[in-house]
Amino acid sequence: MRLANLDGRATIVADDGIIDVANASNGAFSASIEKCLGQLDKLDAWYRSAQPTLTQKIGVDTLAQDTRLGPVVRPQQVFAIGLNYRQHAAESGLEVPKEPMVFTKFASSVCGPNEQLPIPGPSTDYEAELVVIIGATLRNVGVDEALAGVAGYCVGQDYSEREWQFRGSPPQFSLAKSFKNFAPIGPWLTTADEIHDPNDLSITTRLNGETMQDSNTSDMVFSVAELIAYLSSVCELRRGDVIFTGTPEGVGQARRPPVFLKPGDEIVTNIERLGTIHNVAVAP
Ligand code: ZN
Repeated sequence: MRLANLDGRATIVADDGIIDVANASNGAFSASIEKCLGQLDKLDAWYRSAQPTLTQKIGVDTLAQDTRLGPVVRPQQVFAIGLNYRQHAAESGLEVPKEPMVFTKFASSVCGPNEQLPIPGPSTDYEAELVVIIGATLRNVGVDEALAGVAGYCVGQDYSEREWQFRGSPPQFSLAKSFKNFAPIGPWLTTADEIHDPNDLSITTRLNGETMQDSNTSDMVFSVAELIAYLSSVCELRRGDVIFTGTPEGVGQARRPPVFLKPGDEIVTNIERLGTIHNVAVAP
């Protein structure tokens, strides 16, 4: 099942149209995405058995570009992982980490999938990332049980202002990656039952039509399950929390010469089975 936030209402995305959850269920399910996330299994069972009618006939590809789509969650905690793809560590000239390298994107940077991206500095960069949405309270979960705590997956961008990130010593990841709309997620949440292996998905970024990142989540140093287990050994993970799981090679900063974003640029990010998000860079 694909669950979207359309104009602030929980909406199921079928192949040929959208279903307003609260209306189609006569109020049995809430219009609030947060409440639906707490009943995902029930909602999925209802969706499969009740065959609710479509609110609107609209193609998935058209809907994916709709600017009415909001973020599927308003997370309390946003975790992000640095250098979690082997080829990205290599292009950065750094060793593959022995433990996950964790920072945060502050929660106010999270936005819908198709928001405009104000460019705050001279070296704003893109990072396509698989985003994990936590579905339960998790503490000290093992690797084997970690994926059972996932509500679903989204496409994300970990936009980063490199000048801010590296001008001090040591580098300052979290602020540099938390400007307005620096954490778009979407286009919708695809429930975990539809993703057999989150570490076997193609992932791409296109900039003005040119492919800049083209990899697979199988290149991750630490798998999704390992990241959840590691994070939950320190922090209690809560329903709606988000993990940005790292980016593959091809970021602008690692190119010679570097490629940074400027107003007018179109950034299109795709992950196999999860969909596509669209951002246009604008002046601040
Ligand atoms: Zn990143």
